[in-house]
Amino acid sequence: MRTITVVGASLAGLSAARALRAQEFAGRIIVLGDESHEPYDRPPLSKDFLAGAASVDEISLMTPDDKLLDLDWRLGVRATALDPSERAVVLDTGERIVTDGVVLATGARAREMPGPAGVHTLRTLEDALALREELRQGGSLVVIGAGFIGAEVASTARQLGLEVTVIETLPTPMLGPLGAEMGLACAGLHARNGVTLITGVPVSELVGTSRVHAVRLADGREIPADIVVVGIGATPNVEWLAGSGLTINGGVVTDARCSTDIPQVVAVGDCASSFNDHAGAVIRLEHWTNALQQPKIAAASLLGRASVHAARFSVPYFWSDQYGARLQFAGHRRDGDEVEVVEGSLEGAFAAVYRRDSRPVAVLAVDQPRVFGRWRRELS
Ligand code: FAD
Repeated sequence: MRTITVVGASLAGLSAARALRAQEFAGRIIVLGDESHEPYDRPPLSKDFLAGAASVDEISLMTPDDKLLDLDWRLGVRATALDPSERAVVLDTGERIVTDGVVLATGARAREMPGPAGVHTLRTLEDALALREELRQGGSLVVIGAGFIGAEVASTARQLGLEVTVIETLPTPMLGPLGAEMGLACAGLHARNGVTLITGVPVSELVGTSRVHAVRLADGREIPADIVVVGIGATPNVEWLAGSGLTINGGVVTDARCSTDIPQVVAVGDCASSFNDHAGAVIRLEHWTNALQQPKIAAASLLGRASVHAARFSVPYFWSDQYGARLQFAGHRRDGDEVEVVEGSLEGAFAAVYRRDSRPVAVLAVDQPRVFGRWRRELS
């Protein structure tokens, strides 16, 4: 293998380039991405950066060592197709890049709900700059969706002194990842921090012509809003791969070693639906740690090496910062798992363990990093 193209210049793409060099690949690496920026970190976009407490420079992912990786950066260009016959990445400029290997790392984008001015989503630096500017002016914020991004935006907005209402269609926040019981604990976090949480009712309309002034719910209620943030999940950026022959199931389907249906094409990060040993299923993770770790496995696959990482990285992990508390979750939860609080209480710091057939399969902690770490090790 002499040349490799990495498509997507964010955390997973940069991590892939780093891993290839760390695994002694000395050939040419092209890293291309449709954003014009060098890779930056997304988690601060809903936290410190949104609060105005971090600068653009401070959220750069690039280290001085990255400058020595000898990467061929192509920023501000979009891949529009992958031609499997010669593994060519076709760009919006019409150019075809033919290399021996391809890393797909095109991530995901925020799901939208069209509306007038004042309605935001949050995925990119530009999104965060626009929202930050509006939050600075104060007023009332309605957040649609009580998932991680919605909860973090609500938390940051409270910190900035806004009136905040969070609307969630499901009966509790984070029902999918955490289940009903722990979802209620998250509802408590919102309530204790002065946020109005409305659950179990969908939004029917964003009200306003030139600018949003309210959110109408399916039950007829209208919630006044100076600013609206839509946090209803993300869609993987895989449409450009239509016709490539790759299996798409949410994301690009891969085995546990990140290999796709096309030889020497691997997929990593938020755009990949990969077989996960811990979950025993193909899952698509939208977690920072996965986008950092998975490329090490993918690089080994591309270079035809045995990976020492596959087993070590198989337990999914994410964190979220809300209202000054740190939530950490490891493992994979399913409906029917039993959950037990093993430390603390749901009104404050706690750790809870999910069990299936008496076996621990996941752990959630709020401000309990040590207990969390102990249980996390039990899962691997
Ligand atoms: P992305 O970061 O989405 O990068 C993909 C890149 O590919 C983008 O630059 C995109 O523009 C580019 N691209 C897409 N299509 C094309 C194309 N056709 N051609 C060229 N380039 C293309 N995770 C946690 O675990 N904890 C957190 O607290 C947390 N907070 C978050 C807060 C926010 C606001 C967001 C948005 C995410 C957060 N995450 C968090 C998730 C984490 O940031 C993602 O899992 C991670 O960024 C995924 O990295 P990625 O490189 O796979 O994808």
